[in-house]
Amino acid sequence: MNLSPAAAPYPAFLTEFFPAPATTLAESMLLPGREPDELAWQSRWFAGDFGREFLTTSGERLTIIDFGWWNHGAGPDFRDCAITIAGETRRGSIELDRDARDWDLHGHSSNPAYRDTVVHLQLGQHTSGEWFTRTDDHRLVPQVRLDLAAAMGSFSDSPPAPARPGRCLHIFRQIGMEKTLGILEAAARYRIERKAARLQRTATIHGRDQMLFQAVADALGYSRNRLPLTVLSQRLPLRTLTARPADAEALLFGVSGFLTNDSFNHADEETRTWLRSLWDQWWRYRDTYAPGLPRLPLKWNLTGTRPLNHPQRRIATLHLLVRHWPTFRRLLQPENFQEKALHTFAGGLHHPYWDRHYTLHALPSAKPMALLGSTRLAEIMANVCYPLLIPEDASFWKAYQKIPAPGDNEKSRRAALRLFAGHPDLTQLTGKLWQQQALLQIYEDFCLADESDCASCPMPGQAAAQ
Ligand code: SF4
Repeated sequence: MNLSPAAAPYPAFLTEFFPAPATTLAESMLLPGREPDELAWQSRWFAGDFGREFLTTSGERLTIIDFGWWNHGAGPDFRDCAITIAGETRRGSIELDRDARDWDLHGHSSNPAYRDTVVHLQLGQHTSGEWFTRTDDHRLVPQVRLDLAAAMGSFSDSPPAPARPGRCLHIFRQIGMEKTLGILEAAARYRIERKAARLQRTATIHGRDQMLFQAVADALGYSRNRLPLTVLSQRLPLRTLTARPADAEALLFGVSGFLTNDSFNHADEETRTWLRSLWDQWWRYRDTYAPGLPRLPLKWNLTGTRPLNHPQRRIATLHLLVRHWPTFRRLLQPENFQEKALHTFAGGLHHPYWDRHYTLHALPSAKPMALLGSTRLAEIMANVCYPLLIPEDASFWKAYQKIPAPGDNEKSRRAALRLFAGHPDLTQLTGKLWQQQALLQIYEDFCLADESDCASCPMPGQAAAQ
């Protein structure tokens, strides 16, 4: 398999610790059963994860000027886009397919709806340039084969690795706390830089508010429903929701696929009353937004999800953030940011139904439950607030280092077990949020990329050399 390495090189000061992002992870993601679905790739494209500069399969330079809007109905995937190719600007649609052959197989070549397509994006690694993309009026469409390795990051459904203690375990004990903490800090700083670059890319394409909205939706989806929450925030952009404040909740629950006859029929009377109020708004939008063919439905991961983390509660929280958006966005500005104020704001988010319901079908709880509790807020701080704040003002790094680690991050627990199992100073190495983020970075870059059961992993050698 011919996959090129990820585009962004590691910063020079980290190269001694971190190898270039491995292609093995990307390859593993392409194995049957490990492949992110088409919706995930569309979301990654629209978020700008593939960049905007490309070479077509015939060797021409192509730049995306405008990513347009994501079409969830019939026709090409992205409409009203703008590109430059061979010094000429073209406007039109962009279609993303798994494979070059899908253009013909899906009937796009004879469908006038695809006539204005300006780029045919392909994920496939198995087709070559002899598969031409032609419109129904016989115009050749430039093809771009996407570099999946360059866009590969941490997918929410990335496969779990076995939590076995690794070969580096003894090295970290030998080199001592100071050096081990130095390696962790380098990893955490690198992770912040990567997140900041990604947020900046999305802000450049969609504006700061929409970037914040998508990033917060992604953090609310952690860990099992990041993709559907992100896609929900892309299908229903912030400006659509803030322009219809009375309908925003119905739109979010309707587009998510949770406003169904089944939900209603199996609900108790209190839930039915609340659902009825949503239906009163939703029916006017249903034809435009309802999930179903040709719109790919959102796939919620409910298996193993704790009731408190059910996506229905996350959507309720997203709606409350939309409702209080001007306050929320003001709190995230570097000049206003104070963790205490953010906690106070989160504690003030209430909903008459969701304060006491885990899901649409659960019995109400006796006690009210926070819709944006400290664990979820830590996720937002790690993935949204500090990646935006630290590049603006380096002094925020100190505040970031003080945040305690939330307790429910499975992946960082696996990483801690691999690197530090039985370490006498385990709490000092894993007790803070930044350390948890550092462990995730090492786990993704080394453990998930390793296919030698630690034997060929460069981490032990590099750590020992410190
Ligand atoms: S793969 Fe590398 S970093 Fe991960 S546990 Fe093994 S030696 Fe340590």
